[in-house]
Amino acid sequence: MNHRPTIFFDIGGVLLTNGWDTPARKRAAEEFKLDYNEFQTRHEMLKTAFETGRLGLDAYVRKAVFHRSRLFSPDEFKQFMFAQSQVLGETLAWLRELAATGKYRLFTLNNESRELHEYRVRAFRLGEIFDAFFTSCYLGQVKPDEEIYLNALGMTGGQRASAIFIDDRALNVEPAVALGLNAILYTGLDPLRERLKEFGVES
Ligand SMILES: [Mg+2]
Repeated sequence: MNHRPTIFFDIGGVLLTNGWDTPARKRAAEEFKLDYNEFQTRHEMLKTAFETGRLGLDAYVRKAVFHRSRLFSPDEFKQFMFAQSQVLGETLAWLRELAATGKYRLFTLNNESRELHEYRVRAFRLGEIFDAFFTSCYLGQVKPDEEIYLNALGMTGGQRASAIFIDDRALNVEPAVALGLNAILYTGLDPLRERLKEFGVES
């Protein structure tokens, strides 16, 4: 049995900017002169299928944006989507150091569509940090579904007492706490490090 602490990180809002959130879609509407309300309604209807791997990026873009003719190409729109992903603060750099200690088993538990997630893994070399990615597009479930937390933990073979879930949204922390799991609401690197010390986790 492996007793190294098992830590699950959210990505968007913790390590990187969100992949495709409301502010990003507002920027897209402005940049590409879309009717934001129409785009937003279509996005909301497609979002779950997109994030659980049932709808690919090309189909998402076609249905959300190219249901009418446009003066730009699907590739231009997709490039804009990818470009929204940026490093957020110092947490990713700190996490590389934590990973280098070899003392912890590090995984993600993140909601993301497949192409955006895999772009982010490549662009920010996340494979150097995490042992596996528990991402909604692979699991067919999204946070805050209760079962996603238990499934991710189960797939690692980790123990509840030595597992910690980290997320920047209270709605995603609450189900983990309700299930009796250790969970930390991420509000910044310094408070995170303080909380992790309580679990004996430090770089
Ligand atoms: Mg997040």
